[in-house]
Amino acid sequence: MKLKSNILFFIAGAFCFLSLSSGSVQAALAFQTEPQYENIDVISLTIKYPSEVSVLKESYWEDLKTLQEQKLKEADLNVSSDKNITHSKTGVEIVVDVELLKVPDANLFAVRIETVMARQMLLATGSDQILIMSIPLVTQGIKFVSEHELSDSIENSVSGHIDQFLRNYQATKSLREKKDAQTGHAAAEVNQPAQAVQQTQVTRDVYVASKNSEVFHKPGCRWAQNISGENRLTYNSRDEAINAGKRPCKSCNP
Ligand SMILES: [Zn+2]
Repeated sequence: MKLKSNILFFIAGAFCFLSLSSGSVQAALAFQTEPQYENIDVISLTIKYPSEVSVLKESYWEDLKTLQEQKLKEADLNVSSDKNITHSKTGVEIVVDVELLKVPDANLFAVRIETVMARQMLLATGSDQILIMSIPLVTQGIKFVSEHELSDSIENSVSGHIDQFLRNYQATKSLREKKDAQTGHAAAEVNQPAQAVQQTQVTRDVYVASKNSEVFHKPGCRWAQNISGENRLTYNSRDEAINAGKRPCKSCNP
């Protein structure tokens, strides 16, 4: 029964981050924490952007990153620039992927921003196999923005995504503290985050290509989303895709 509710909460947590704000869900799942937000100690932030779209300068992206890192620090997280942060059990990488396209013959840009968090998860299969999962945080649909609104629009969206992460992180932290106070466990005895994760909920880092194209993508790429079911090929690794004769997409950099 306990396991069942953990799984349900994991699904709710990973795919519907609004669950905490819904009164009835909150009551039914009182003191259930979100496993992916537990035991976070160190965090790194990566903002991916199309450097060929030169309307926003490199300094804009650097400032945007610094601003968001500042918010993470204010929430008492250690911010690191370590690229291998997910090699640590308490390390989380947040990846903000900004896709940007100039609309031909119009002073408009199409903008799509997706934010994921990557961290180690242990499979609850009795083995100690560790998997680095990429968990969707916020996916924003395509927005059309004029050139003079572009910098503010991207900053507001990215800032909103980081705020969403911090709300979930802080909600889990305070639920954990309440739970520990009630059960008399010290915070140090907190379970590893992934114990509630079942293999069926694991999303591997798979790559996607069309039978009719030489390019492969991350599943979240806008080009990948246009591939119909019958033409869709998937690969479990980058090497597998390359060995099959595909090359990486220039938009999503798989
Ligand atoms: Zn792509």
